[in-house]
This record gives sequence, structure tokens and C-alpha cells, in this order.
Amino acid sequence: MSESREPSVSPHVSEANALLRAELPFDDERDFEDARRGRIEGLEPALVEATDGRIAWDLGAYSFLDSACPETANPSAWRQAQLNAIGGLFEVGEGIYQVRGQDISNMTIVEGGTGVLVIDPLISAECAAAALRLYREHRGARPVTGLLYTHTHVDHFGGARGVVDPEDLAAGRIPVLAPQHFLEHAVSENVFAGLAMARRAEYMFGAPLEPGPAGQIGAGIGMRNSTGSVTLIPPNLEITHTGQVEIVDGIELRFQLTPGTEAPAEMNFLLPDRGALCIAENATHNLHNLLTLRGAPVRDPLAWSHFLDESIELFCGESEVMFAGHHWPRWERERIVDMLGKQRDLYRYLHDQTLRLLNQGHVAEEVGELLELPPQLASEWHCRGHYGSVNHNAKAIYQRYLGAFDGNPAHLWRHPPEPAARRYIEYMGGAEAVLERAEGAFEEGDFRWVAEVVSHVVFSDPDNREARELEARALEQLAYGAENATWRNFFLMGAKELREGVVSAVSPIAAGADLIAHLETPKLLDAIALRLDGPRAAEHELRMVWSFPDVGERFLLRVGNGVLTHKPLREGGEDPADIAATLIVDRAAFDELVGGRAELPELVEAGRLRIEGEGEVLLTFFGLLDNLDPAFPIVMP
Ligand SMILES: [Zn+2]
Repeated sequence: MSESREPSVSPHVSEANALLRAELPFDDERDFEDARRGRIEGLEPALVEATDGRIAWDLGAYSFLDSACPETANPSAWRQAQLNAIGGLFEVGEGIYQVRGQDISNMTIVEGGTGVLVIDPLISAECAAAALRLYREHRGARPVTGLLYTHTHVDHFGGARGVVDPEDLAAGRIPVLAPQHFLEHAVSENVFAGLAMARRAEYMFGAPLEPGPAGQIGAGIGMRNSTGSVTLIPPNLEITHTGQVEIVDGIELRFQLTPGTEAPAEMNFLLPDRGALCIAENATHNLHNLLTLRGAPVRDPLAWSHFLDESIELFCGESEVMFAGHHWPRWERERIVDMLGKQRDLYRYLHDQTLRLLNQGHVAEEVGELLELPPQLASEWHCRGHYGSVNHNAKAIYQRYLGAFDGNPAHLWRHPPEPAARRYIEYMGGAEAVLERAEGAFEEGDFRWVAEVVSHVVFSDPDNREARELEARALEQLAYGAENATWRNFFLMGAKELREGVVSAVSPIAAGADLIAHLETPKLLDAIALRLDGPRAAEHELRMVWSFPDVGERFLLRVGNGVLTHKPLREGGEDPADIAATLIVDRAAFDELVGGRAELPELVEAGRLRIEGEGEVLLTFFGLLDNLDPAFPIVMP
């Protein structure tokens, strides 16, 4: 457990926070009015229990946000957290309701002729079910007659099974709408680098951090991720083009596809009868991420900007209210056009100016430091860097075009962090000398430098408690000054792990049963190939057939030169020559094995997995796979 410590805030941080308070339009209360508008009831209790008894969600833990901004928080970050903590059931427009603050994302409910269309059913089934219950308490037990996912991120589909009656689903009575290529991206986004992303996401969202004035105050886009059961119901009605119109339970929906914006597959749509625009996650009340800090491929700011411009053209003439998958709605046509126009220019400005600067020879760190938004964007609350930031988005754009290497040959073949740290510290006269000077830098308020330099001490000697504490103190000050909630979480997580060691709760199985079940078999085999211990595997030459009778798929697998390759075989065809063994298993049983819900001997025992030929070949193969432990250190070696 973490010991409680009295936070002390450096005067340098207080000063910077005061300066920002004077600069930004805190008198403008319109976001608070919008965030409270149409509120029918709060969440009582604001707590959701998961099926296994754990707490999946607790908005009540954030009641401390009712007070004025403390010294331990950036005032703009605090304001955003206060807005995000306004939860409950809201009437957004004619027959349109939202449950907000019941997860990191919003669930929107549109009333149709006989039931309701549910848009974006949160991350977990328990939270989505609680949200639907709250709606039904006030609007009656209307059945769910349609489901819609705006895009491929888990906070917009994971709770699907919490709102849909399985019988209705099995009978094909419920249309499930999503942008084309939804399933492919939804299940594959986190497969290859999933464990590292999950571990980094702990730093980004601060899951192990306690909420509190000196602790976690949200994630900018919402408070935090719920921790219930993640599910996936695949779509059965794909939106393939802009201009497509669908009618679900009497509700007309007019779509705009926006691939390659905030998500690889995403869509906005207009409800023309209600004068309402759903802008998915393409325009929210903060600067979004072009490169999310948990790690992902860099997003395309130019496409993002282009599609927002198209949204204005297509929809704004008919939109009286605009709502999204996060944050609060915005009303009035002129205010909607104004916001979309500025969001469009925001991503375009970052893109064009980053390229202008990098074409002048500036490297990523310099571009991040040089780039500032023009005043008319910087003074808009919805352009502020609560989730994305100008600094890390600029570096992301640099990376998108030029990569991580800055072109300086001195940086082409650097030593890795540990050996470099040992050399730095030796050159700098030893750890004690470094810490003494770093204490001076701390007093002067140069916390960025303290963190950088003392991190070398920690990487040269992780047992140096004094160094760990000094770095932790510097990271804490950076957190108290950070406008960006995900930066704050990174800094606070670093401080926590420097003091307590790794506190990760990441599971080695990154994907839930539903997600694994919808992964195509070749992708699943690719994911298994990533666990092959190359150097050991290079000593073997294996050829096997893996057969999955329930889905009618067979594959030739070959281990050679340290890699696993596979190719599909014709169903019912002859096995290729030189096959040492054949593994026969239903996909369903194999998924249990991959998902950690069954062990190999157990499946063999139950006759659910059979081996023909030389069984040792398969044992050898499974013996060459790594057991992954995602609880790796980040802030220490
Ligand atoms: Zn989202």
C-alpha cells in the first residue's frame, strides 16, 4: 500500500498554475451549463459491481472535485475533471438521451418506434447494463431494437452484451451497425503489441492511482476506464459509404465515413428528424491524440481535418445539437459550426506547422517546444491539451513523416538506457555529485531536468533510494503543473513505482474471450508467432498441420530459421508430405487455451485436442513459446 504523504508544491509550480489561471477564460461557464443541461438524475449509487464482485466503476470516488482547485493540480486540468465528473442521465434532444460518467465514454440512447437504438455501449457489460437501467427507470422498459458502434475502440463496444437480449440477437432481430472494417480493426488493434500497450495504458490512465486532489483526477477524455467484463457482438450491418441512409426502428440515420481519423474505422451521422449530429470521437472537448501515449500507430491529422470540414458541409445546416462518445453535447447551429471549424483548423495547424518546422531542420523535441497554437485556438477550451497535447502531437507528426531517428549520426547507434546511464554517471563524477546538483535544479524549479538527469542515476543503480525519491519528487511537481491529465497520470505513476516498485495489475491475456473468438485464425497464428523464442527456435525445423474442424480450417505450420510461418490448406485435401504431427482441435477449445481459460493437458484429457503423429513435435513447439509477463518496469531498469 502507498504510504500517505503530505504533498508539497513548489512555488515554481504554483506560479505557473497561477499564470495559466490568469490567461484562460475561466469566467466562461458555458461548458458547465452544457454539461448540466437536460440532467434528469445523477447516478445513485455511482458504483457498479462487476460479476466477480470487484468494483467495476465508482464515480463517487471523485466527489472531491466539488471543491476549488487545490495547489496540487493545474487549474485547467481541474476544470476538465470537474466537467467530466458531471454524470447521470441527460436528455440531449427530442427522444435522445445520454448516460454520462458511468464509464470513461458516453452511452447514447435514441428512442425509436418500438424500442431504443443504443449508441456506443461503454467498455464493460456491467456498466452498460447499469446505464440502461438508469434510462429505463425514467423512460420505461423499452426494448433495445438496435445497436451502433461509432468506431473500433473498446470504450465504444465492450459493454454490448450488457444491453442486448441474447435471444433477440440470436434470432437476428437486432441490427448492429458499424463502419466498414470494424471487426478487423476492433479485434486486431491490440493483438500484436497488446501487452506493452496495456502496461503503458496503466501509466496513461493511472489505473493503479488513487483518485484524489494530489492523485488521479481523470484522464481528460473522461475519468478512467471501467474494469468489468469486456464483450463484443459483431456488427451485422456495415456502413460502407458516406451518404448511406439506414432506418432503424423508424429512426433515420444519415452517415459519413471517416476512416483514418481518431480510429482506423469510424463514422459520424445525422439524425435528420431530430436535428442532431453524432460526431463520434472526431470532435471532443479537448485536443485529441495523434499518438496516444499508451502507444499506437500515428494518426493522420490531415485526414482528420478534412473529414471535419466535410462534416460541416454535410450536416451543419440541419444540426441543432451535436453529441459525441465523450464529454458533453453542444447546442445551437452557430456554436456547432464554430466548434467544428476550430477543431478542423486545430489538426490542420499542427500538421502544417510541424512540417514547416521540420523542413527547416528542427527535430521532434524542438518542434514540440516551438509549436504553439494561435491565440484564437489556444483560448478555446475544446482545443486545450487535456488528452492530446501540442507537444506530443507535434512529435507524433514528425514521427509519422520522418520516424524516430532525428538524422544526427551521434544518435544513430546510442547505448541503451542502462549502459548509457552507467557511463553518464561515471563521467559526471558519480551518483552523489549528480544528486547534489540535481537538488539545486529542483530548488530552481527545473523539474524536467531533474527527472532526466536523476533517471540516469536510477538506471545506473536502481537500489539508490535517494535518487529514486528525488526523481519521484520531481515527477510529482511535473504532475501538479500538468494541464494534460494523461501526462499527470504518467508522472504520478512514475513517482509511485519509483517509491513502491512495479504496481502493475496487467494480465498476460490482453484480450477477452469475445475478442479472441472474432480474431481470424491466420491473425491468431500470427499472434502466436510473436511468442516464439527466435534464438531457441532457430535450432529446430518443424512441420505440422493444425486442423480446426468446427470452422473447417486447416493450416500448414512451419518453424524454420527461427520463425513460424503458416499457410492455409484446402479443406478435405491430402496432408503435405514430411508432416511430423497433426493437431486437431476446435477453434472454440483452442480459443480457451489462448485465452488462458484451459490448459493443454486438460484439453487432451477431455479429448478436445488430439494429436496424430509425433506428439513430441508439438511439445517441442509449445516449449519454444515465451511466457510473457507484462508487469515489466518502465521508470526503472
Ligand atoms: Zn473513446
